Amino acid sequence: MDLLNTLVDKGLRRELPTRDEALAVLATSDDDLLDVVAAAGKVRRHWFGRRVKLNYLVNLKSGLCPEDCSYCSQRLGSTAGILKYTWLKPGQASDAAAAGVAGGAKRVCLVASGRGPTDKDVDRVSETIKAIKDNNEGVEVCACLGLLSEGQAERLREAGADAYNHNLNTSEATYGEITTTHTYEDRVDTVQKAHAAGLSACSGLIAGMGETDEDLVDVVFSLRELDPDSVPVNFLIPFEGTPLGKEWNLTPQRCLRILAMTRFVCPDVEVRIAGGREVHLRTMQPLALHLANSIFLGDYLTSEGQAGKADLEMIADAGFEVEGTDQVTLPEHRASGGCGGGGEGGGCGSQESGGVCGSAGTAAPARADEARTDLVAVRRRGAGTDLAPNA
Ligand code: SF4
Repeated sequence: MDLLNTLVDKGLRRELPTRDEALAVLATSDDDLLDVVAAAGKVRRHWFGRRVKLNYLVNLKSGLCPEDCSYCSQRLGSTAGILKYTWLKPGQASDAAAAGVAGGAKRVCLVASGRGPTDKDVDRVSETIKAIKDNNEGVEVCACLGLLSEGQAERLREAGADAYNHNLNTSEATYGEITTTHTYEDRVDTVQKAHAAGLSACSGLIAGMGETDEDLVDVVFSLRELDPDSVPVNFLIPFEGTPLGKEWNLTPQRCLRILAMTRFVCPDVEVRIAGGREVHLRTMQPLALHLANSIFLGDYLTSEGQAGKADLEMIADAGFEVEGTDQVTLPEHRASGGCGGGGEGGGCGSQESGGVCGSAGTAAPARADEARTDLVAVRRRGAGTDLAPNA
């Protein structure tokens, strides 16, 4: 297919595809899907080989958020039965992080619900970063604390943070339909503050919120312009008790096309499959490793992922290898900036779209406008509980 040959050539040269080419990837037929995956896979292997970076989420503070992000189980007014707790102590967060590192994660992502941190919160997270780094040599730490005020990114960098995550989530044109308590520009501003402070910027999207193909292309093109080191791609997990609780409109094929389009537009960037991997890709997860070079290990913020062991087995079975702490995530031309690793994935609420699993393998395909509580398991273990984390 001429389209795919063109996109591979451009991907290898880091050249931006046209909007029409990106839209055409999303419009490909199921008959062409494996060709799309193979083409985007060439670009992925050129820049990242067969390495898969593992990231581990620690939800420092869960629920009780005053913001109204429609996709988020921690939002104002959410009746989702998620864990709710205030700040973990540094030792508790460090213990949770250590489980992820022992499971193979090279990056720990510290996430807290809320509009943004107070200066006291930044102090708290700084202590937590120190505790994690003291106990886990070589681990990368990414903070995801919401909108940043002046000077906070610099303070996090000084405390040892390697990266900062804040997602754009959707296109500028539709942002107001998803959230009313802050703006798209607020989000862009925080990503830019992280960048300016020397943190590795991580910013991504959530697919499946009722957006059009044009919206998806818009947000991915905006991300390319913002130039984060990593782009987490979340697939909405519709939580009962949130406004988007019945938005079941993704298929595994659609998810693969979205990941392929993201790879073509951001060829040399860490593309991470974030929340919703198990729920929406289901048995097609291994194919997605040909497109993304990074995933989360174990559970998400408020929902459970498949067993960490199953993540590792999937990577090995598909012929990929877990990236070690001695390997640099990003291609050489990008690795000189930021932390030399990759970026974080998610953002408060977004990577949380959290997955299910265990039972997901036997689930029937999801249908729009129907609640699928069988596909979404609220997190009941790990941070904020007395039970061991999944890693
Ligand atoms: S995404 Fe973040 S800011 Fe938005 S409601 Fe959820 S926790 Fe709050």
